[in-house]
Amino acid sequence: MYNVNSLKAEEFIADEEIKETLAYADENCGNMELVDAIIGKARQRKGLNHREASVLLACQNEEKIQEIYALANQIKNDFYGNRIVIFAPLYLSNYCVNGCLYCPYHLKNKHIARRKLTQEEIVKEVTALQDMGHKRLAIEAGEDPVNNPIEYILECIRTIYGIRHKNGAIRRVNVNIAATTVENYRKLHDAGIGTYILFQETYHKESYERLHPTGPKHDYAYHTEAMDRAMEGGIDDVGLGVLFGLELYRYEFAGLLMHAEHLEAVHGVGPHTISVPRVKPADDINPDDFDNGISDDTFAKICALIRISVPYTGMIISTRESQQLREKVLPLGVSQISGASRTSVGGYAEPEKDNSTSEQFDVSDRRSLDEVINWLIRLGYIPSFCTACYREGRTGDRFMTLCKNMQILNCCHPNALMTLKEYLEDYASEDTKKLGTGLIETELEKIPNPKVRERAAQYIHDIEGGARDFRF
Ligand code: SF4
Ligand code: SF4
Repeated sequence: MYNVNSLKAEEFIADEEIKETLAYADENCGNMELVDAIIGKARQRKGLNHREASVLLACQNEEKIQEIYALANQIKNDFYGNRIVIFAPLYLSNYCVNGCLYCPYHLKNKHIARRKLTQEEIVKEVTALQDMGHKRLAIEAGEDPVNNPIEYILECIRTIYGIRHKNGAIRRVNVNIAATTVENYRKLHDAGIGTYILFQETYHKESYERLHPTGPKHDYAYHTEAMDRAMEGGIDDVGLGVLFGLELYRYEFAGLLMHAEHLEAVHGVGPHTISVPRVKPADDINPDDFDNGISDDTFAKICALIRISVPYTGMIISTRESQQLREKVLPLGVSQISGASRTSVGGYAEPEKDNSTSEQFDVSDRRSLDEVINWLIRLGYIPSFCTACYREGRTGDRFMTLCKNMQILNCCHPNALMTLKEYLEDYASEDTKKLGTGLIETELEKIPNPKVRERAAQYIHDIEGGARDFRF
């Protein structure tokens, strides 16, 4: 029985509720009066529930789809402005005891090189990341209680936060590791992590069990209830995601929103971010083996609908997607992207020669960070390396609070400009520096509060003089 408040996976992600939702969406997707009413509700920035959003996802009326895109773009501009937050993944270890059928790190893959970074190697990796200009990392590790116990992860986090190299510093470490216990989540929280990220992969229980035939990850309930345990352990910021291509996308989409509704209902805080990865080729993985792949257009529609359904939740697109596709979905509400990612263990300090042997997935966008920053500026976006909220202790629903108090332009905006200035001073090519300097000048004028504008301008001037790490 569906119950949004239940702590049992099969009740807050009830299969019958998803099936009924899809049937309801099929019946109503041609009902333009209802479609208009749902779009009208989204226009009030109140978000949409899984049933409403599913009706729009099923709607094939081109005019309405364009309306949804325009609304997603408007919400993106109103709430997030033209800022795009930048991060990079850091693979710590590809030892894994699970049997996930879509990932080359699965236990039975005997020919992939297994590697786990030592603390010295982490220093090299992070130094290489700092030398590019990264300030925000997402650490990744396979599930292996012997090779990658929680103590190892905690030690890595301590090492990463402690590395100082020239003006470089990692100011926020997000963590993407396997579902674990409340006690371990508490340890992660105490270690000062940013967001805890765990992709559901698929919300469809039967498919989930088939795709995870062996290892602890096989347990659907334990995996699906992980975010509740994380929140119980004190972590306010959690990141959801499904791997599109494994199951029917409409099923996943409804499940994803039901999960967000559940976190909001039980903990009073929705997900901090939602990621939208698609299955990609990798060593011994062929995406054609999964018959639920989605087209770029469907992908764009999903992004737009996430934006209007959960307006306060950040949306992440990784380098799994090409430059072209990223360009298509940026205006539809994406708020964070990765840049210059390496998806192999140790890949930043020593890039793999053929770029494929131990990557978790094929990276489509292989540009350098400077190229990504240059591209964003040319498209009219402000690349932001901001980590201010986390460091000021503003977690949970603070973005919503900032939005509701109309403080985005007085807070996120100057923070974006100041962190971009740091990037331009320390890491940018001449061309990017020139473009970015012009952008900062124009964008400073958009800060409404004169005092904040003045202080931001002063800080930017000070950054030019060598000072670092200002924030609002
Ligand atoms: S997806 Fe994660 S848990 Fe599954 S095999 Fe890959 S690294 Fe292991
Ligand atoms: S000020 Fe906070 S909400 Fe705004 S971009 Fe920075 S970290 Fe994000």
